[in-house]
Amino acid sequence: MRRIDLVCHYDAWCSAADDLGTNIIDPYKAARPYYQAELAAGVERFFEPRRTSYPWCGSVDLSIRLRTPDLLQNKPGRFTLEQCRTCRHIFQNPRLSPAGLDFYYRDFYDGLGEQLTEWVFRMQASSYRARAEMLRPFTVPLAWLDVGAGHGHFCRVVRKIWPETVFDGLDKSVSVEHAQRRGWVHRGYRGKFVGLADEVTGQYDVISMHHYLEHTREPFDELDTAAKVLPLGGYLLIEVPDPEFWFGRVFGRFWMGWFQPQHLHMMPLDNLIAALADRGLSVVAVQHVEAPLGLDLIGSLVLALNASIPDPRLPWLPAAPTGWRRFRHIAAWAAGIPLLAGAYILGNLLHSVIRRTHGGNAHHDDYRVLARKDS
Ligand SMILES: [Zn+2]
Repeated sequence: MRRIDLVCHYDAWCSAADDLGTNIIDPYKAARPYYQAELAAGVERFFEPRRTSYPWCGSVDLSIRLRTPDLLQNKPGRFTLEQCRTCRHIFQNPRLSPAGLDFYYRDFYDGLGEQLTEWVFRMQASSYRARAEMLRPFTVPLAWLDVGAGHGHFCRVVRKIWPETVFDGLDKSVSVEHAQRRGWVHRGYRGKFVGLADEVTGQYDVISMHHYLEHTREPFDELDTAAKVLPLGGYLLIEVPDPEFWFGRVFGRFWMGWFQPQHLHMMPLDNLIAALADRGLSVVAVQHVEAPLGLDLIGSLVLALNASIPDPRLPWLPAAPTGWRRFRHIAAWAAGIPLLAGAYILGNLLHSVIRRTHGGNAHHDDYRVLARKDS
């Protein structure tokens, strides 16, 4: 089943090439005409005008927190995160338009990027279980909707923890339809949560949003929808990266958590708690997810290596790949393996030192919030 899905995605690029009469079977080559045509028109059109105030609190007291290129995929463009000095919320400014988001998401979770992201998601099983266990002291879920379900990896793992619970997924990508076909979710809704609100209202006693809110254009609209859709006594589980993690300050653009250009909003924990309370959702539990510093350092190195010597096959790079460029790329990554191993060991040593001197809460890169709808 898995292989069929992959062939499907690549096939989209290969059939497009066939239509042009090029009869190419390499998906990187097949995608190249599309990307080169898009880039010829420039990426500036993908940005909305810069905001001079932060719309949610009205403050005009903004400061630049980060400027970075796309270190994840190496697509052209520069991105800025600004921070509101009044409420500390961090947001992409200027923000990508919907067309811009389509352009930068393309071939990340699907298509050319699918195999890598599938591998990353499969490595998260213990985190998925910890999220699902957060409900245990409070309720036995009957029907659970995972918003931003992607390919359904979370539901696939945690339905073993809650075997009587029905797990459905919602995502705007075709991935959720694949998740339903694989049987990883009982039902997959394809579309936006806000748009599907009427269809799912009253159907679920638990809604989860894992690494979802920070990707949305209007997170507070998503929270409004969750508050509307949940019945009284229902639970909302949220996990997001913590923008106040010290690593992001020290390593700047090389902290994986900034994840530009996909993360549009990053909010401090107390802002999220207040936003939930405004909507009748009381926070019943908070967890700070301990950062595996070895992995954080590996993430930083991967971003740096990726930016210095990108995969020459990438169809959005200006020059077509040559044998020499491909050799140089493979050699650079091979040389980077001892560095990655060193970073992992160093990070874990540092981790134990910090844990001893500051206690477990001093180094966490994500936080989880469980809230109950009480009014
Ligand atoms: Zn503000």
